[in-house]
Amino acid sequence: MGKKGLLIHYDYCTGCHTCEVACKQEHGYPAGRWGIMVKDCTRESVDKVEVDFLPFPTDLCDLCAGRTQAGEKPACVKHCMSACISYGDVSELARAMEETPKSVLFAPR
Ligand code: SF4
Ligand code: SF4
Repeated sequence: MGKKGLLIHYDYCTGCHTCEVACKQEHGYPAGRWGIMVKDCTRESVDKVEVDFLPFPTDLCDLCAGRTQAGEKPACVKHCMSACISYGDVSELARAMEETPKSVLFAPR
């Protein structure tokens, strides 16, 4: 079985923070601790302002080991309404990444 990870298509992220809440509820993290955090990246030019939202897992992310061992999707994957987080084998996610602009691959230890 290959190493598992998350592929995040942040081009489609709306910045709704649902993944943060779902992760927190799943793990019961206290205030100030997060398994995933969503950052705003703002770029300003003369005629426009562009905002990207970039969700990134932290060291607390265990890829929802309890859920995935039971055959369920990680909490953030299940609850993201934009379907921009995928869970699976890192090698397969890396192949999918080649077709996907604005994406990041997360693979914990
Ligand atoms: S739940 Fe999905 S759309 Fe919402 S902030 Fe997280 S990754 Fe972005
Ligand atoms: S995979 Fe699980 S632990 Fe990791 S960020 Fe998503 S909800 Fe949190």
